[in-house]
Order: sequence, then structure tokens, then C-alpha cells
Amino acid sequence: MTTKLNTCSICGELIPVEESGWALGHNAEPVVTAGRCCEECSECVVIPTRLRNAGVDVEIGKPLWPRPDVMRELLKGDHDD
Ligand SMILES: [Zn+2]
Repeated sequence: MTTKLNTCSICGELIPVEESGWALGHNAEPVVTAGRCCEECSECVVIPTRLRNAGVDVEIGKPLWPRPDVMRELLKGDHDD
């Protein structure tokens, strides 16, 4: 079985396959329509953009929290689309 590596729609890096075997990374919307992105771009760009769109004043380009448990909670369901 071979797993095709996907490329991040935002930074262009290959999206690494996760321990679970998931290889599609994260949903890159609304930054890139129908795009997929790596975890770093998701945390630094996509999630802050979503929060900004929701009216939350956050800085884009930095991870919001140094807490992976919080990020995981926020990203729950991101794999379902
Ligand atoms: Zn990326």
C-alpha cells in the first residue's frame, strides 16, 4: 500500500502522514478554497483567519496557543470534510 503525499496549499510543503494514517492534513478554507494544508499552516494561518472572520482579534502568522491539547480540541472535525 502506498500513500500519496499531498502538498500544503499554503506553504507548498508536503503534508506528512499522521500516525493514524491520515495524509490529507487540514482543511485550508477559508484561506484556500477546497485546499488542504499542513498542521503548521493550519495553526498559524487558517485557524487565526477563521477566528478573525468570526470577529476575534488575533494575529495571523503565529500559533494561537503553545498548547497542542487546545489546538486538537479546536481542530476536531477538521478531518471529516
Ligand atoms: Zn503549510
